[in-house]
Order: sequence, then structure tokens, then C-alpha cells
Amino acid sequence: MALREGALRLNLLLNSRTFYKFNSSVGVRSLSDNVSSKPVTPSAPEIAGDHLIYTQEHFALKESLRKIIDQEINPHVEQWEAEGIFPAHKVFKTLGSAGFLGVNKPVEYGGLGLDYSYSVAVAEELGHIRCGGIPMAIGVQTDMTTPALARFGSAELKQEFLLPSIMGDKVACLGVSEVGAGSDVSSIMTKAVRKGDEYVINGGKMWTTNGTQADWICLLVNTSDGPPHRNKSLICVPMNLPGVQIARKIEKLGMWSSDTAEVFFDDVHVPCKNIIGQEGMGFTYQMLQFQEERLWAVANILTMMENVIQETIQYTRQRKIFKQPVLHHQSVHFRLAELQTEVELLRALLHSATALYIKGNDVTKLASMAKLKGGRLAREVGDSCLQFWGGMGFTSDVLVSRFYRDSRLMSIGGGADEVMLGIICKYMDTLPKK
Ligand SMILES: Cc1cc2nc3c(=O)[nH]c(=O)nc-3n(C[C@H](O)[C@H](O)[C@H](O)COP(=O)(O)OP(=O)(O)OC[C@H]3O[C@@H](n4cnc5c(N)ncnc54)[C@H](O)[C@@H]3O)c2cc1C
Repeated sequence: MALREGALRLNLLLNSRTFYKFNSSVGVRSLSDNVSSKPVTPSAPEIAGDHLIYTQEHFALKESLRKIIDQEINPHVEQWEAEGIFPAHKVFKTLGSAGFLGVNKPVEYGGLGLDYSYSVAVAEELGHIRCGGIPMAIGVQTDMTTPALARFGSAELKQEFLLPSIMGDKVACLGVSEVGAGSDVSSIMTKAVRKGDEYVINGGKMWTTNGTQADWICLLVNTSDGPPHRNKSLICVPMNLPGVQIARKIEKLGMWSSDTAEVFFDDVHVPCKNIIGQEGMGFTYQMLQFQEERLWAVANILTMMENVIQETIQYTRQRKIFKQPVLHHQSVHFRLAELQTEVELLRALLHSATALYIKGNDVTKLASMAKLKGGRLAREVGDSCLQFWGGMGFTSDVLVSRFYRDSRLMSIGGGADEVMLGIICKYMDTLPKK
């Protein structure tokens, strides 16, 4: 029933020329003036009809999102990158009103109720934003902070935190990493001690994306002294509670338009009902949540890699050295062909992992492989393409240099390459037993 309603809502969205208008009752600036003169027609994909995971609805959804990106986001990217932050509430409201912050979330809470292939389609399209920071911040909201809440949270909790996050009324962030615990999530120190019908939280979180602007945090804490995989819980914590302090905004190599915070929790009192699912299951929930985070990140960076390769082709075609275009040197066009081939291989892996995931399979191994390959390939694409731009590639004016900086995070964040290798080895049964 929920799925049918979601599909109906999607149909309504895609068939309506006033697509962006549908939630104007909550005070959203109507974008329909900008787009209603042009019908929202499904794009003509190269492989229409028998795509492994995409239907015409997926392509139409992507096209609608592309309009928002081109009209509402990309014109401001330079300014937001320079300012080191983007207006998350404004951008999320625009995306939430149009249905893009909850495509696979339940319709009762404002989502479209569609399967995860639609989230992958959205993540791919968000790769057209001309920086890594804003897509990452959106992904944190849609696919890193809310999956466990949507799956295991109580109806009351979903009403309070999930619904407004899907509608774009609340900005969310994820508090897993700490100063002393990143790759080794099990060693986090932040504690929530039960007192009556409240938890009292003490500790600190590091690297919190959206952290300076967020309204709530999905916080991983220790709720007992038991074994590290059984003593953790995920709790929804409003960021305006007494004792929550934004210690600082972290300056970074890349992802400039995304704010990253260090956050402290000093005797923060939260109602026990704010726990997601069962106490002690937080580590398991977070590991499940990581699956979607990793698929999302790969989908997003695929498009960016493709755009960087395409822009490099355009630039090297017109730039002449030794009386011929840079592109005509065999080492250049062969290298670009090789990179494009690797991008296609990664896409095939992502799409087959997605196809298996939406059928209910555990795709931890494939998602980890895709994340590992995505990080490594992004570094190769960034480095090789930047080289072909010569001095221009070293300026701040071109996409390739921003991609070179931003994409470096892919091999570190959300589980470093070595963590992915460890997971793959576990599934291959090649990890030495302790
Ligand atoms: C811009 C940015 C945004 C982020 N956003 C968030 C967020 O919103 N929420 C959140 O919770 N976290 C976030 N993170 C944290 C991110 O997930 C961690 O940085 C990441 O998990 C790595 O942890 P660490 O930085 O503590 O590195 P460490 O754990 O100290 O690891 C350092 C290095 O050790 C190596 N290593 C790790 N494991 C192994 C191994 N088994 N064998 C050999 N070598 C190994 C890797 O090369 C790794 O890079 C963000 C980080 C950044 C930089």
C-alpha cells in the first residue's frame, strides 16, 4: 500500500509540470515559474528499456533533479565554496519540497516509498553539483543519518525527526567518529547513562558533517559497559539542548562548502524514548546504515569522475602543444579511455550490488568493494586528468582541481580503504584469526 502510494506520488511528480510546486503550502518558494514552461520529459537514455536497474521513471526523476541542481545549486557553488559553508536549511527545503530527500523512505513520513535504486539514481545525479561538499552534506541527510531511524525507530521518533528531515525542515548530522575513534568504531567513548526516563550524555564527536547547522544528531553512544559490539545505541539528540556545544568548525583540504564540526556533549539530558530501536543494538544498526552510505558515495562519485573526464577531453581537444591538440597524443587519449573503462566497471559493480540489495540481499562485500574501488579510482582520475590540464589544472578555476581535493576523502571517510579491505577479507575468510 505504502509502496503504491509512493509510486503514485512519483508519477504525480514526474507528470506534473508544476513539479516543484506541490509543497508550496509550507512556504516553499515556487520554482515552477522557472521550469513549468518546459515539459518535464523523460530523458532519452542510451540504454532505454533494458537498463539493469533504471526505468523511465528513474531517468525522469534524474532529469527533474538536474533542473534543481542547474537552477538552484550550481549558480551558487563558487560563493558557498569561498564562504566555507552552504545554507543547508534553504537547499534542503528546496530538495525536500520536491521529494528528493526521501525517495526510498516510507510515505507516512513524507518519503516516496520507492526502492533503493531510486536513491542510487538521485546520488548519481547529485554528482552534477560542481563540488563534492554539497552532495556529501545531502547524502549525510538522506543516506547516512536516517536509514536506521527509518527502519528501526518508533513511530513517535520518526514523526519528530524523520519526517521533518525528509521534508527539508530539519537538518540532520551523524555522530559516529570521535577524536580517538574513527576506523575503529567499536572504541568510541561517548557515554549515555540512564537516569530515570532520561539518558545523560557525555563525550564528544569529531568530523561531524552539517554539524554547525544541524537541528539534530543521530548519535552513537555506549549505553553499557558490555562487549563493544553489544553496548552501543543510536540516539536522536536535538542540537539545541543545553550541554551541546559546537567546539569548532574544522578547516579542510577539500569539501569546503560542507561544514565539519567538532561537537561536545556535557551532561546532555535526552528522553529515553529518543533511542532508535533496541538499546545495545546501535553498533549493528550503524553497520547496516554503512551499507547504504557506501553505495550512495560510489554512485555520487561516479558521475563526478565522468564529468571530470569529459571536461578534460574538451579542454585537451582545444589546447594545442607541439602543433597538435593535447588529446591527440596517444598517451593522453589512451589514458582517458582506460579511466572511462574503469568508471564503467565500477558502475557495473554498483548497479549489480544495488539490484541485489533491493531484492533483500546483504551486499556488504560488494558495497565495500565498490567503496574501495571508488576511492582508488577517484584518486587516479583526479591525478591523471589534472596532469593533462597543465598549469590550468593547478588553478582554483577549474573543476578538476576541486575534484582532486574533494575526492581524496573517498579513501578515508565512511571507512578508509584499509577498513574496506578488512571487510572484504572477512567475507573471503582470509583474515588471520586472533
Ligand atoms: C570531511 C570529513 C567529513 C566526515 N563526516 C563524518 C560524519 O558526518 N560523521 C562521522 O561520524 N564521521 C565523519 N567523518 C569521519 C570519517 O568517517 C573518519 O575520518 C574515517 O572513518 C577514518 O577515521 P580517522 O580519521 O579517525 O582515521 P584513523 O582511524 O586514525 O585511521 C587512519 C588511517 O589508518 C589506516 N587504517 C585504518 N584501519 C586500518 C587497518 N585495519 N589496517 C591498516 N591501516 C588501517 C587508514 O589508512 C586510515 O586512513 C568525516 C571525516 C572527514 C574528513
